[in-house]
Amino acid sequence: MSTVKDLIGHAVDRLADDLEALSRKIHDHPELAYQEVKAATWLADYLAAQGFEVERGVAGVETAFRATVDTGRGPTVAILCEYDALPAIGHACGHNVIATAGAGAGAALAAVRDRLPPGRIQVIGTPAEEGGGGKVKLIQGGVFERVDVAMMIHGFDRWILHQDLLGIVRVGFEFTGKAAHASADPWEGVNALDAVIQTFNNVSMLRQQVRPEARIHGIVTQGGAAPNIIPEVATCTFYVRAPRLDYMWDLHARVIACAEGAARATGCALKIIDLEAPYEPLKRNDTLLDLFRANMAATGAVESPPLADRMGSSDIGNVSQIIPAIQPMVQIAPHGTPIHSRVFEAAAVSALARQGMCQAAKTMAMTTYDLLADPGLVTKARVEFEAAK
Ligand SMILES: [Zn+2]
Ligand SMILES: [Zn+2]
Repeated sequence: MSTVKDLIGHAVDRLADDLEALSRKIHDHPELAYQEVKAATWLADYLAAQGFEVERGVAGVETAFRATVDTGRGPTVAILCEYDALPAIGHACGHNVIATAGAGAGAALAAVRDRLPPGRIQVIGTPAEEGGGGKVKLIQGGVFERVDVAMMIHGFDRWILHQDLLGIVRVGFEFTGKAAHASADPWEGVNALDAVIQTFNNVSMLRQQVRPEARIHGIVTQGGAAPNIIPEVATCTFYVRAPRLDYMWDLHARVIACAEGAARATGCALKIIDLEAPYEPLKRNDTLLDLFRANMAATGAVESPPLADRMGSSDIGNVSQIIPAIQPMVQIAPHGTPIHSRVFEAAAVSALARQGMCQAAKTMAMTTYDLLADPGLVTKARVEFEAAK
């Protein structure tokens, strides 16, 4: 008699053509943050057809959904999907694969529900990862309150079990000075653009004293109306990233001090603008990672070491700060392919992407099965999570 894990593997293989078609459809209709109406509908419809009970628009977010299979009293394991695209370059982050790997894992579990231990499986559709913090809204809306552990995967150019993510806080500065004719009466003006330029210069000096894994990067968003007017208002935006929350907030305070110094030096008024919710660093959970590793190896995937110098940020970090959560990287593109590039966009519907999606779906489904079969592992993940606080 086949084991449940064998049956899960067969179920993904059987569903692979449908999942690939769905992945391609999402890829070919890229939708930006909070506008993923088509993708959310297709995924929710698919899961409903597999026997999930589907709630749409959860937490007041129109393009979020929650699909549940309940097999009795036991742990709740969530599998997360993302499906937002990037401006101009479509699915260059491969979120179509995240979406269908998650839906595929859910479908495979639904296919073996009669053999599943008691518990609850939730496939949660989380919009707006590339900007807008969909998961932050779902956290605030209570979607994760009754979830014990969560997992998702992300497409990459190799398999990495745990890749650190940087926390990110975004801050805007608006300087207000005084307009004057730039040639006739420049001494009557207070130059808001000078304050912006001084802020950049201050940050450049700060950078020398910043740890190498941190990132500070900014743009000028408003620099004046015409060269013959001393700029009355000028604005800029900075992103501040660091692998630890305390260091991220420390740097955030120091960047604000750079702007305050510039305001003082130029005589401008400064307004500090908090831009969207911070994304937090990814908190590691070895209990979940060890289960994922064993199941991943069974699908033939070969793990690479984590990267120390190519780090982004994601709102899965925020989830990992409230419950045990993991986001392994799954190979869907040839080694060396950078993400957020046109080549990665093309790779996200390649044969390699199909293979990675199927391996990821199997691995997540089998890992979910392990957690339901031995709720002691869920407790262990929680104990590890608490100990790391
Ligand atoms: Zn991305
Ligand atoms: Zn992404």
